[in-house]
This record gives sequence, structure tokens and C-alpha cells, in this order.
Amino acid sequence: MSAMYSDRALVIGAGFAGLLAARVLSESYGDVVLVERDELASNAKLGDVEHRAGVPQAHHPHALLARGADVLEALFPRLGAELKAAGAVQADLGSDFMSRAPAGWAPRDPIGLSVHSMTRVTIERIIRRRVLKLPNVSLVDGVTIDELLSDRGTITGVAGRRDGEPFTDYADLVVDASGRTSKLVSWLAEHGVHCPAPMIVNGHLAYTSRLYHVNHDLELDWKTAYEITHAPSTKRGGAVSSVDGDLWFVTLFGAGGDVAPTDEDGFLSYAATLECQDIAEIIKTATPASPIYRVGNLRSRWNRFHKVPNWPRGLLALGDSVVSLNPVYGHGITLAALNCADLRDLLKEHDLAKDPLVFQRAVAKTAQIPWMSATTTDLGWSQKKLSLSTRFMRWYARRLFEVIPGNRRVYRSFIRVSQMVDHPASLFRPTVLWPVLTGHSLSGWRLRAKER
Ligand SMILES: Cc1cc2nc3c(=O)[nH]c(=O)nc-3n(C[C@H](O)[C@H](O)[C@H](O)COP(=O)(O)OP(=O)(O)OC[C@H]3O[C@@H](n4cnc5c(N)ncnc54)[C@H](O)[C@@H]3O)c2cc1C
Repeated sequence: MSAMYSDRALVIGAGFAGLLAARVLSESYGDVVLVERDELASNAKLGDVEHRAGVPQAHHPHALLARGADVLEALFPRLGAELKAAGAVQADLGSDFMSRAPAGWAPRDPIGLSVHSMTRVTIERIIRRRVLKLPNVSLVDGVTIDELLSDRGTITGVAGRRDGEPFTDYADLVVDASGRTSKLVSWLAEHGVHCPAPMIVNGHLAYTSRLYHVNHDLELDWKTAYEITHAPSTKRGGAVSSVDGDLWFVTLFGAGGDVAPTDEDGFLSYAATLECQDIAEIIKTATPASPIYRVGNLRSRWNRFHKVPNWPRGLLALGDSVVSLNPVYGHGITLAALNCADLRDLLKEHDLAKDPLVFQRAVAKTAQIPWMSATTTDLGWSQKKLSLSTRFMRWYARRLFEVIPGNRRVYRSFIRVSQMVDHPASLFRPTVLWPVLTGHSLSGWRLRAKER
């Protein structure tokens, strides 16, 4: 059980990071208020909205990594069962996944690690309902926050707008969870707090996505198909996952600026250029369940708030507001969940309103591995000279991908790392290192490459 600190915490943004932070803060603060720009409560059943403007990424698939699912289950007991009851499709990451590394198809043996596949709208709605049921958590929606209020180096509240009218509110702790488009850096600058320039790695990636009703006439032996882009050679990729019971989420990834079109014919022609022909077949034969949506500029960005010496008391930041990543690796929700697990642990020992950098340093530590795995490949699109360590990581990753099609043990290790269940150091254990260094299954790949 956490210590009780002060009366009131205020969270800006009711996306994943904000909802999870509110859940954790409810253990230490008497009153937790979520302030959200979108209108969520207008529906008779509180929080029962579908798509909303504040999270345009909800038009695109959201995979929940195995590690993230575990952390969420600890915060919300029986969440997995609830997601399943809402139609989430459970898929083993080996036998139910048809996955293509740059050098060929991955083995299809069961891995014993499975993920729930569902739309972001569904998982967010279920978590929102659970959070808003907590007696000391409330939601103020339809409010856009524009600035922070401070008193002698301590953040004391927020100011913004609601229906054109000014809005102010005060709290002992303010948490910024306003996502990828957070204005926190400029809000802080108005108070004389200057942040170092963010680290940015741009893979010039766009997602183009559409939902389809499952076509049961197509006989497919997978629940998710996934074909990844890889700098600097493979600009096109795609994915299909079975979601929410009877839908397919089809996405075309375009990296290095090679963006998929949003018109019907262009969408299909782009899909037809992929190795996974099932994607084009689905587009040709299944009935659309949504328009085609595109989101671009999906760069990775890290605001190094932990390095700001005069970071104000009374303020924390987490989720995409701090680190937003190229989404193809599916880190975002898991990272937000890990931030909140750190928040929960640290609140047992620290009054974070008084010592916020303790938390920001934990956020930075947790971000290191996902940042490395999301950006190592994307740095290959850059024209800049890469550091020796990055060149080594890229070389090693390339060799690993070449071995994966013929080596189920290497693939299993890779999946466990990419699901954040194991540390990347496990990719340097002898059982992985040896085949990677000796190119154990290169001949198999070369053979398949010739056959194509
Ligand atoms: C195309 C795409 C695909 C993705 N796929 C995956 C995936 O497969 N798996 C995964 O784990 N992650 C994925 N992500 C990342 C995931 O969406 C984010 O990491 C996650 O939502 C982070 O949560 P957040 O709460 O920080 O931000 P968000 O969920 O974006 O929430 C921010 C909230 O703040 C509100 N807000 C913003 N500004 C203000 C303001 N001034 N005042 C009041 N409220 C405000 C917004 O309306 C919103 O509700 C994907 C992202 C994109 C773009």
C-alpha cells in the first residue's frame, strides 16, 4: 500500500498513460482528476465513446505486448478475461503468427507466449470504465489545457479552455499525460524552465489502415500476418490482425517516405507488392468496415526531462509526452504501463511532488531499451554517419534476421525480447550468438531468396 501524500492530483489527458496514472495515484491521493480535451462523458454510460479526435492513432492497430499485458493485469485484475469477453482474439506469437523478417518467413512453432488482439477503442474503453469506477477518480472532459500555473518554482495547477470559457484548477501534483502532441516543453519555457532539445529519429513512416469484416471463405492458417519494413532496403510492409471478434485490421506500412495511398485502387496495388499476398487477397474479397485512414510523421522522439536541473516541484510527465516511438514495434502502451508501475513503486517511498526528478529518471531508465530497439533500424534511413555501437547493433540485427527463418530457437529468443519479456542481452547468449555469428541458416535463406 502506498503512503498517502496530499489531497489532490490532476492528470492532463485521459489516454492510456493518463488512465493508468490515475489508477496508481488513486492509492496515494485523496482526489484524482483526469482533465481531457475530448468529450468522453456525454454518453449515458460514462466513458462509452467510440473514436475521438484526441487519439487519431485509434484508426490504426494497437498490439499490446506480452509484458504490457502482465503489468496491466497487476493494475486491473482479470483484465485479460474481460478483454477476451469483449472479443479480443488471443494469438500465440509463433503458431498463430505469420511473420516475415527481411530474409524470409519466421518458423511457425508454438512459442507459448500469446497476445490479445483488439482495437485501441475497445481496450481504452474497458480500462477507462475500470478507472472511472474508482471512488476517488473523476473526469473533467471537453477541457483543453493551455498552460501550467506555478508559485515559486512549484506547479500548482493548470489553466485552459472549456467551450470558449476560461478554465483553471489547482492540485498538489500535476501529471502531464497529453501524449505525442504534448505542449509541455513550451509550457515549461513560459516558467523559465528550459529542456534540452529532444532526441529525434525519423524513419519517415506512415500507416495506412482499414477495418474489414472477416471473410470466412478465405482459409487462412494464421490470426496475425506481419511483414516488417527494414532500412535501407525494405520500404514497404503490412499487417493484418483479427480483432474484436469478427474484424480484420489491415495496415500498410510505408517507411523511408514510400507512403501507401488512401484510395481503393492505390491501397490494393500497394498491398499487392508485398510478399504476404494474403493481405491483397483480403482487400480484394472482404467487405470494408471503415474508411481508409492514414497517419504520417511517425518519428521517434525523446524529451529528456530527467536532465532538466530546475524541473519544478509538483509536476511529473509520462507516456508519449516523454517518449513517443515508431509504433511498428508496439511499445507505446507497454511503456506507459511500465511508467505507471514505476510510479506505483516510487510512491511507496517518495513524495514525488517534492522530488519529481526521481520519477523522471525512472522514466528515462525504462525508455532506454525500447528506444534502442525502435530506433536502431530507423537510423538506417538517415544519411548521417552512425556511431560504431549503432553500426554494430544494425549489423547484428541484420544477421539475426537472416538466421530467423531457419532457426526456431533464435526466433523464440527474438520474440521474447521484442515482447519485452526478456532483456536484449539474451540475444547474445551462446544459443543465439553462435548461429548469428556463423550464419547457421544463411544457406536456407539464400535458397529461399533464389526461389522468389
Ligand atoms: C499509428 C500508431 C499506431 C500505434 N500502435 C501501437 C501499438 O500497436 N501498440 C502500442 O502499445 N502502442 C501503439 N501506439 C502508441 C500508442 O498510441 C501510445 O503510445 C499510447 O497511446 C500512449 O499513451 P498516452 O496516454 O501517452 O497518449 P495518448 O493515448 O495519445 O493520449 C493523450 C491524451 O491527451 C489528451 N490531450 C492532449 N492534449 C491535451 C490538452 N492540451 N488538454 C487536455 N487533454 C489533452 C488527448 O485528447 C488524449 O486523450 C501507436 C501509435 C500510433 C501513432
